[in-house]
Amino acid sequence: MTTKSRIKQRGGLDVFRLIAAFLVVAIHTSPLSSFSAEADFFLTRILARIAVPFFLMVTGHFVLGELLLGECRLNRGRQITGVLRHVRKLAVLYGIAMLLYLPLGIYAGHYGDMSVSAALKMIVFDGSFYHLWYFPACILGILLVCLLRRFLPFQAVAVIGVCLYGIGLFGDSYYGLLSFLPGVEGVYDGGFSLFSYTRNGLFFAPVFLLLGAAAGKRKSVFKPFFAAAGFAVSFLLMTAEGFLLRSFGLQRHDSMYVLLIPVLYFLYRWILTWQIKVSKEKRALSGWVYILHPAMIVMVRGLAKAFGLTELLVENSLVHYLAVSAAALGAAAAVTAGLPAVKRPAERLFKAMARSVGKRVDEGEASEKYPFGRAWIELDRGALEQNVRALLQELPTGCELMPAVKAQAYGHGAVGMAFELNRLGINAFCVASAGEGTKLRKNGIKGEILVLGYTHPGDFPLLLRYGMTQAVVDYEYALLLEQAGEELRAKADFSEKAHFHVHIAVDTGMHRLGIPSDEIEKLSDIFHRKNLIIDGIFTHLCADDTDSPSDRAYTDMQANRFYEVLDRLKEAGIPCPKAHLASSYGVLNYPSLAGDYARVGIALYGVLSTGEDTLASRIPLLPVLSLKARVAAVKNLHKGEAAGYGLSFVAGEEMRIAVLSIGYGDGFPRALSCGRGEVLINGYRAAVLGRICMDQTIVDVSSIPDVRQGDIAVIVGSSGEEVITVCDIAGQADSITNEILSRLGERLERVWI
Ligand SMILES: *Cc1c(COP(=O)(O)O)cnc(C)c1O
Repeated sequence: MTTKSRIKQRGGLDVFRLIAAFLVVAIHTSPLSSFSAEADFFLTRILARIAVPFFLMVTGHFVLGELLLGECRLNRGRQITGVLRHVRKLAVLYGIAMLLYLPLGIYAGHYGDMSVSAALKMIVFDGSFYHLWYFPACILGILLVCLLRRFLPFQAVAVIGVCLYGIGLFGDSYYGLLSFLPGVEGVYDGGFSLFSYTRNGLFFAPVFLLLGAAAGKRKSVFKPFFAAAGFAVSFLLMTAEGFLLRSFGLQRHDSMYVLLIPVLYFLYRWILTWQIKVSKEKRALSGWVYILHPAMIVMVRGLAKAFGLTELLVENSLVHYLAVSAAALGAAAAVTAGLPAVKRPAERLFKAMARSVGKRVDEGEASEKYPFGRAWIELDRGALEQNVRALLQELPTGCELMPAVKAQAYGHGAVGMAFELNRLGINAFCVASAGEGTKLRKNGIKGEILVLGYTHPGDFPLLLRYGMTQAVVDYEYALLLEQAGEELRAKADFSEKAHFHVHIAVDTGMHRLGIPSDEIEKLSDIFHRKNLIIDGIFTHLCADDTDSPSDRAYTDMQANRFYEVLDRLKEAGIPCPKAHLASSYGVLNYPSLAGDYARVGIALYGVLSTGEDTLASRIPLLPVLSLKARVAAVKNLHKGEAAGYGLSFVAGEEMRIAVLSIGYGDGFPRALSCGRGEVLINGYRAAVLGRICMDQTIVDVSSIPDVRQGDIAVIVGSSGEEVITVCDIAGQADSITNEILSRLGERLERVWI
């Protein structure tokens, strides 16, 4: 399998979400009831019972997986925020749905006698209208499992989830068995004064949320066929279970079966193997079908009555179902199509209103996503995924990405970046030092880690301990490694594994690191060292970034020298290890360069070294990083007053200035002082005034309305219609993006969004 196919397609889940939504519609319209009670029972009380647990699993998968099972503990706080944000979203949807159905509920007499306890029962457990129980169940379930996980390992939480489900079973399909346990029956009946059913957030939701979290995080052991077969068998058994319980009259309700858990487990595993692409708009459809279908039931009934079509549209259950489904799909499509048109004006209106009452509304969503920072980096997961895809498309078959995550992944944060790349199926990285590699390993990064630079022999044990691969920087260095292997073997704790994994660096003309390409004897000699395991061989191109004929000729020469080395080794009977030579510009400008890896750095982060190159790039790259800082203070500057170190700026007129909490200590280049650089505030450009300080920068906000303390200044990224790219900054600082990015400060927080 190539890396390409490891980028996961999740479209199967979206497709099944839509199927599940129509199963829910079936539960509420009983399409087969006109024909056979058995068939209706099968469809609505057995098959359709898959739908809601499936929705819960999707939530568990995408919302809880990282928090409950993630290995990377660095982003815990942010993961919790993510979960809470989802809970808030569910609560808002629940609120909207409640309001939407309030008139219907009143009309149907649902709110006849509303005591406080009855209201609580309805809002927390039952849902305010007959199908709305899903929202409170999901919220309660999420909060419950997160709380449990706070104190217990995942396995223990899973056991609790299963036990709760077991308890729930006896309030649902297995209720009849309670008559054998008179004492317990009373307990259950007490429970039913709190909630109408046990299929709620307490007994029903947790196990499926947990199952979803596990399905998302743990690799599947099943081939698609076995998952499908597992589903088929367990579903057959569940059908038997359902009919058996029904024939004995044990059911109080029919949402929960013992076999529902394996059914969902196999089904979900199977769906994850469906390779389908689904657009973002279509993805939202299922949710709206779910929310809107009760209204459509009412509408279809109303219209049928009005036009005298009741016999056709309502009394024939199948036609009724199809009519409701079509109406719900149409309404959902209308909402998803219309939503963006409504959303933007609504946001603008909201901002204008907030401004008129003197409240601050920050640009975009940034402040909502990250409310506390002084200065920070936002990283765009979608952009990274897009860049990975675009680069993979460029590579010859068999060639995989080996991203360069050296220098804090070019300022993006090495651990977070490698973690995201791991999730995208990438399993090889290169770093500059053993220290960088060690940090990745200590944070759970998997796959090959190649140290491209020199490692001092004192650090050789790190290579073994953390399973890193070392570049052989010259021939003598190979001998040093070989000898260190001998010595370490003598020590007890290394006796087993004193073999160094290495990639041999070949110097084909850059004259930096590597064994000269014409020293074939030395190169082949390294292959015969018994303490070295040669996993790879590589060279680095130094003139692949321009299109000039001389550079092209030089690059071709380098490539030819490298392939020549490979040929000579082959002739000498040496099995060829993985070979690689292209970095970002190599992939872009020399797509035919074959290799087992492409060591891409800068392009992966969505820019090239210069603005011109980035503009001219043939492949679509999206910048992953934005850089933002808070306005620390705003003040007036009178004519003749100076600001900043060295009094280098003097106001020629009355001005308003803002102090930003970012400086060259954060990597905002000092070369941008005195008007060279700009930032964005509330969609306007603000020029840098005076000299940039280590922790602060002063900008001119005279012509920007209403700038206040706590506002967000965008150093790299967009605000309103304006954009500043890291290429702009590199240009202003007479540097390249690689340098600007890799010098972004340690103290900036990195936030993935
Ligand atoms: C940094 C580095 C790379 C990555 O280069 P980009 O131009 O950022 O893609 C590749 N190979 C070696 C040896 C490097 O040092």
